[in-house]
Amino acid sequence: MTDVETIAAAIRDVPDFPKPGILFKDITPLLADPVLFKACTELFMARLADERIAKIAAIDARGFLFGSVLADRMNIGLVPIRKKGKLPYKSHEETYDLEYGSATLAVHEDAFSAGERVAVIDDLLATGGTAAASCRLVERAGGHVAVACFLVELGFLNGRQALEGYDTFAPVVF
Ligand code: AMP
Repeated sequence: MTDVETIAAAIRDVPDFPKPGILFKDITPLLADPVLFKACTELFMARLADERIAKIAAIDARGFLFGSVLADRMNIGLVPIRKKGKLPYKSHEETYDLEYGSATLAVHEDAFSAGERVAVIDDLLATGGTAAASCRLVERAGGHVAVACFLVELGFLNGRQALEGYDTFAPVVF
């Protein structure tokens, strides 16, 4: 099996994107390699194997890439957590702070059955604001967040603090 170090080595650093001072972790080289992309899915599946997950909640937009593959491989449903204004049906919304300004995420009100076990998926955990808002949305829509999964964690940004109380999985830590 491809190890975590090989996956980590394929992630490209792009300085000053999308703005000066941000070191962007570009996962597109991973996605373009079928062996590495599959290895990422296998890492998530191994972590989720004993969690009795009923639905994947995937975060807009790179969470969709891993989340949809996972839902298919695990034979469970997929729920998109989207940026405000994209979902067509009645939705819950959560607004959270960014470094400058704020952002709003949304989920359909009928996305989950009461108490069903949900895995929240995104590509990367930075400050944790996006993931924490997503977990709140899952709960407001009736789901139970069993675990929040990321391929990458930027450890120096302390995103786990924002996710206190949630089980968090991130195999690649920078
Ligand atoms: P945060 O809410 O700060 O945890 O930011 C997480 C979201 O922003 C995820 O959806 C990531 O895809 C994206 N993100 C934040 N920082 C980076 C980074 N340095 N490289 C790539 N994506 C990032």
